[in-house]
Amino acid sequence: MSCIPSIAERQGLKREADATVYMNFMKSHCCYDAIPTSCKLVIFDTTLQVKKAFFAFVSNSLRAAPLWDNKLQRFVGMLTITDFINILHCYYKSPMVQMYELESHKIETWRDVYLQCSSRFLISISPEASLFDAIYSLLKHKIHRLPVIDPESGNVLNILTHKRILKFLHIFVRKIPKPAFTGKPIQELGIGTFRNIATVQQTATLYEALSIFVERRVSALPVVDKEGKVVSLYSRFDVINLAAQKTYNNLDMTMEEVIRRRTCFVEGVIKCYPDETLETIIDRIVKAEVHRLVLVDRDDVVRGIISLSDLLQAMVLDPAGIDALFS
Ligand code: ADP
Ligand code: ADP
Ligand code: AMP
Repeated sequence: MSCIPSIAERQGLKREADATVYMNFMKSHCCYDAIPTSCKLVIFDTTLQVKKAFFAFVSNSLRAAPLWDNKLQRFVGMLTITDFINILHCYYKSPMVQMYELESHKIETWRDVYLQCSSRFLISISPEASLFDAIYSLLKHKIHRLPVIDPESGNVLNILTHKRILKFLHIFVRKIPKPAFTGKPIQELGIGTFRNIATVQQTATLYEALSIFVERRVSALPVVDKEGKVVSLYSRFDVINLAAQKTYNNLDMTMEEVIRRRTCFVEGVIKCYPDETLETIIDRIVKAEVHRLVLVDRDDVVRGIISLSDLLQAMVLDPAGIDALFS
């Protein structure tokens, strides 16, 4: 019997190596490798007022902050823009009524209310853990911020995100063999969400958009016209503009107006088409530094969402037989 593999066997081995290349990359690098050499990290004490915390997001260009409980002498959770959305959605009545709770609540008061319906503990990772484990944790817990905590000092070193991890891979991409499947159209690979896409009409109110964020737990909404054509994109991140502009007391504004007033945002909608390859899509999403692409047909009608979560699930967790995103 010959020990030399046949052509069919060689092709099989190549396919297997192809499928696991990104998984192996993530397993062989640790979280410490992906964090920047220096970064600004702001921590909030849980006795800080929520309103001041969100203003601090604006003045420090933050998206999230670890929460320190002085009584317990440990980190107990994270504050993110999603919490701002939940607070506004929970307490808003009308433009005429001031949200007493937003004005007076401390972070710990809000957490007492919020944690009654969601039993949250701090999800963190050690710098020595692999990026594979970080991706698994982000996707399994359906969060977008993963603090890296040094087990010895207990200090938060950095906050990992899907964006940071995919960018890290992209830096090394030329040094690792390019798998054949990256040349296939995204439609054929079936990466992304293609049914039941949460969108918002441009004539809808901002409160309606916040309700969709809360009920569907999606990270962004394509803003569409009457024909279902995408005209803009409104992500959870954009809601912090309401704190920057102090307009959170009027959630009856239409989405058209909200989009017009938005200051810090990405020009146009970053889209993709079903026949574009995975490689093109990865390049576009990394270069644009956005969390998702809107999949449209040639008439600009929304057909799907390809988010960094979908890409990391397909490229890294699927080859390990783990379905963290949809479990
Ligand atoms: P955003 O997309 O606005 O940054 P996330 O999806 O990360 O927000 O957060 C969703 C919810 O989970 C928020 O209530 C937030 O406080 C909480 N959360 C986010 N990251 C963590 C974490 N690492 N540990 C515990 N809770 C978290
Ligand atoms: P985060 O960095 O918190 O993950 P996002 O990537 O969701 O935030 O959003 C950052 C900015 O990029 C927001 O202003 C958002 O509207 C914009 N943005 C995100 N995705 C797209 C997209 N596909 N097209 C256009 N703008 C986008
Ligand atoms: P994300 O929260 O963007 O990391 O994505 C988590 C999952 O939700 C992914 O499978 C996305 O494709 C999906 N998703 C994100 N935004 C939407 C949306 N507006 N409608 C439906 N699914 C979405």
